[in-house]
Amino acid sequence: MPFSYTGKILHVNLSSGDIAVEEPDDLFYRRYLGGKGFAGYYLLKMLRPGVDPLGPDNVLVFAPGLLCGTPGPGLNRFTVAAKSPLSGAYGEAEAGGWWGPELKFAGCDAIVIKGRAPQPVYLWIEDGRAEVRDARHLWGLTTGEAQAAIRQELGEGPRKVRIAQIGPAGENRVRFACVVSELRYFNGRGGLGAVMGSKNLKAVAVRGRQEPALADPAAVLEIVRWHAKEFKNDPRGAALHAAGTPGLVAGLNAAGLLPTRNFQSGAFADAAALSYDAYQALLSGTNTCHACPVRCKREVSVTGDYAASPLYGGPEYETIAALGSNCGIGDLRAVAAANELCARYTLDSISTGGAIAWAMECFERGLLTRDDVGGLDLRFGNAEAMLQLVTMIAHRQGIGDLLAEGVQRAAARIGRGAEALAMHVKGQELPLHEPRGKFGVGLGYAVSETGADHLKMVHDTVFQTKESASLLSAAPLGIWEPLDAQDASSRKVRLYRLLENGPALWNCLGACFFVYAPRGFFPLERVPELVQAITSWRTSLGELWQGAERAINLARVFNVREGFGRADDTLPPRLFEPLEGGRLQGASLSHDEFEAALTLLYRMKGWDPATAAPTPAKLAELDIEWAAEEM
Ligand code: SF4
Repeated sequence: MPFSYTGKILHVNLSSGDIAVEEPDDLFYRRYLGGKGFAGYYLLKMLRPGVDPLGPDNVLVFAPGLLCGTPGPGLNRFTVAAKSPLSGAYGEAEAGGWWGPELKFAGCDAIVIKGRAPQPVYLWIEDGRAEVRDARHLWGLTTGEAQAAIRQELGEGPRKVRIAQIGPAGENRVRFACVVSELRYFNGRGGLGAVMGSKNLKAVAVRGRQEPALADPAAVLEIVRWHAKEFKNDPRGAALHAAGTPGLVAGLNAAGLLPTRNFQSGAFADAAALSYDAYQALLSGTNTCHACPVRCKREVSVTGDYAASPLYGGPEYETIAALGSNCGIGDLRAVAAANELCARYTLDSISTGGAIAWAMECFERGLLTRDDVGGLDLRFGNAEAMLQLVTMIAHRQGIGDLLAEGVQRAAARIGRGAEALAMHVKGQELPLHEPRGKFGVGLGYAVSETGADHLKMVHDTVFQTKESASLLSAAPLGIWEPLDAQDASSRKVRLYRLLENGPALWNCLGACFFVYAPRGFFPLERVPELVQAITSWRTSLGELWQGAERAINLARVFNVREGFGRADDTLPPRLFEPLEGGRLQGASLSHDEFEAALTLLYRMKGWDPATAAPTPAKLAELDIEWAAEEM
């Protein structure tokens, strides 16, 4: 009997309406784990290279991590994946909350969807039964409206129906439309909401009553109790509990690391107005995800011109910086209203902010005129214009239609130097972390299969002092000495290499990055113990780390098969120019250092430095020799 997983993977063909259940053997789970491990496997096996990401042949995967839905700390995350319409590369985005656990409770470890429904539909999964239902009456609704309608239709019971869905931005195939569940947990990056829209799939609603079996429930309970008692005694857990990610704004600004006015500066004059002190005036409550005592989630309530309801949560750090400082806007109420609009329409707030910041800079530099932007005064700092653009992007109105394509395509369309202002990697807009002050983050943005993504690496800034809790907790990996965040030497490449499998492992297990070391409190040396208590597997950090590396390599093989190479593992030109203002005034990356680091990293990873492709030896080491034939 399997522990932690159900042994069932649902395959849905939306073109024919066929639904089938696959029952993989235990070794499949041990080899691919879950989350991105499943995503890489199914995208390589089921998708032909070169397919249109918005055509019926794209494959859409919903995959909770292996341990998702068990009571272990922060074990709640699931991945949505497909070929990305934003980058044309491997696309994945993970989210926490309650939807992933509910899918497991409903008796399903993943859903693999292909085809395109002839008319809008939603998928309803309850206790092992799946059904494709008519959604014509839901098409065009915003997420709050659709969630209420679906819940009413399916009947309120003692257990809530959990709904992952798209709003108008997904329906209109905005290339950075996201998927949202419970109106506030976002599978944000890569345009996976547009893939749902292209398949006429409005939502996936789930309800289940069977919690995953545990191999050793008493041992799991001991770990859960120990973590709940201890995490607040650790500075990482305490800080996140006290202020969530919005608590990062003030410190990053003081360090010169708060992206401002389309990454022109790392310091924002109005940062205090975006800080957690200011946030508390809007705060109406805190919230959490399944099985997590950290409770880092915030809810805001705003009335008046910039109304925002706690139903849609509250802006996280990324959203505050993307739609605040990076657009030159120092008004948290406007950011909260924009956060709600992104949740209603299902727009990725990082890419939305990136597109608007790029448009504002183009406007200030005369590359976009008032006529081009529908008469808006699109200078940095105009909160009204920012909010109007969010709606225009979701509905592809006016200039919003261009911005809905993402900054890479939009810049190529208008030309005249606009490309140099487009802050993206592989077409995906940069998250709100400044590589000129965090070299490893830059390296990670460049090599990430999905394009720039801040959850693919542990950030350099937490390893700078010998007292750092993150540094001390990384000792079992062979990381013992502090290193400056801007260091670009071989020691930084080693640090990056030793750490990079961690975030991928948390994804594969369904574990939250903020709960597990080195970014979170839960120690690495207790992870194998936790996995064994849940699954019964006798395992080690070595085996698990290699599982994560396998998943990374599958995603890389997918990209190589799609024609991506070393030239795509790059950074926007602005990062090689000096930062303006703030503590890192004048800091820039060096092309020579960056390229040397990239070459060294490929060698450490067992990838060919010329092609950036995994070598046959690396794939053999990872027991996925079959993947070599895909390249
Ligand atoms: S730390 Fe925050 S994001 Fe992570 S599981 Fe807990 S509440 Fe969710």
